[in-house]
Amino acid sequence: MKLLSAFENHKQWPHVKEVAEKLINNGFKAFLAGGCVRDAIIGRVPKDFDIATDAPPTAVEGFFEKTIPVGREFGIVIVPFSGFQVEVATFRKDGAYVDGRHPEAVTFSSPQEDAARRDFTVNALFYDIQSNAVIDHVGGLQDIKDKSLRAVGDPCRRFDEDKLRLMRAVRFSGELNFSLAPATYLALCERAESIQAVSVERIFSEMNRIWLSENPVKGFNGLFETGLLQVLMPELFLNKDQSDAVSCGQKFKVMLNGFMQRKVNAIESYWAGLFLSFNVSDAKAHDCLMEWHGPRQLADDVTWLVQHYHSLIAIFTKHPAKALRLLGHGMGVYLLDLLQFKSIIERGDTSSLESLVIAYNQICDSQGLLPAAWVKGKDVLNLGLAPGKSVGELVEAAYDRQLLGESLNRKELLEWLMSEVSRRGLS
Ligand code: ATP
Ligand code: MG
Repeated sequence: MKLLSAFENHKQWPHVKEVAEKLINNGFKAFLAGGCVRDAIIGRVPKDFDIATDAPPTAVEGFFEKTIPVGREFGIVIVPFSGFQVEVATFRKDGAYVDGRHPEAVTFSSPQEDAARRDFTVNALFYDIQSNAVIDHVGGLQDIKDKSLRAVGDPCRRFDEDKLRLMRAVRFSGELNFSLAPATYLALCERAESIQAVSVERIFSEMNRIWLSENPVKGFNGLFETGLLQVLMPELFLNKDQSDAVSCGQKFKVMLNGFMQRKVNAIESYWAGLFLSFNVSDAKAHDCLMEWHGPRQLADDVTWLVQHYHSLIAIFTKHPAKALRLLGHGMGVYLLDLLQFKSIIERGDTSSLESLVIAYNQICDSQGLLPAAWVKGKDVLNLGLAPGKSVGELVEAAYDRQLLGESLNRKELLEWLMSEVSRRGLS
């Protein structure tokens, strides 16, 4: 009953129910399947709904005005609504896997066999909306109670069939905060190398989901301890023995714990934290993210974070306004976040960082953005200066005074500007 209300409270539910009832009224079964059942049992809001049915895809297509036949030969028909879609899949059994990712063909079959072809037991549950009962062919309910992520059937075979499941295992363990079941974990460790069969785009997207998962520490442990991370990102392990690698991993976990507490959801911070913890240079970090075919903006922002993590405090000590100007970069807030960990990890003197944060908080707005400059180029030109290098220098110097609070308003700053022009002998 509690489960039903979890479904009923979902905004997509009226449409999902409509789709299921259409199938049922035509004499077919309609079970909610996979992630939506798992999430409702755990108490998470389902992202979307998948329905499993014994109706063949051609019949499903006939029941609805609009359908998208995404994979008719795999028995999948999409019923689209505005802003979301319901996936209707015919119970199926997978044929032989050919390329380490996909079955050659599928045959339509029973709910039992459909549960058996799913990846993890917690993802193989059905919910029959006619009887309001969970149907569990694989022990998924017990595994949810035990917070255990277990492959359906023989984990070695299941990982050999589809290597993406290696990443999915780690990702779900982070997202659900579940532990990998012992045999599943062992099979994963033995097959870490085979992750190379999966496209970089898929891996990159799984990694990002791990960082933003409920428990990224668990996700990271899954990547690190199974050997997946070493296969995926050898650059992190270059010139490091086992104990160096473990201590880098510990540093990253300190960061991840902090990110978890503060619910950091900027993917840039996670990637930068990973490279920084493993002492990877900014240039290598950039290359690495481009090899993943990640967005260039992300690679640039992460590189900026890695680069300035090492230099910002020194810049602040020599030229405070320059450090503040640097923090005007869109990633400025995230850089300050990461620098908190530098002082924790290195247990160094934190006074410079504290002064920088105080100065930054005094001038930036609630979104962490620096104020607009009070003095612009045209103010300098109005004083009779010819266009040229010194105009830019004066504008910059005026902005520095503004950031450091040395002039308290535009009027004062313009007065300073006038005295500076004559002091420099420019007018
Ligand atoms: P999410 O919340 O990430 O969407 P999900 O469980 O719904 O989680 P999907 O990738 O949407 O995951 O897949 C839907 C269902 O299809 C899964 O719950 C699982 O039963 C099955 N499935 C998906 N990918 C695989 C795979 N590679 N191997 C076996 N079964 C899979
Ligand atoms: Mg899903």
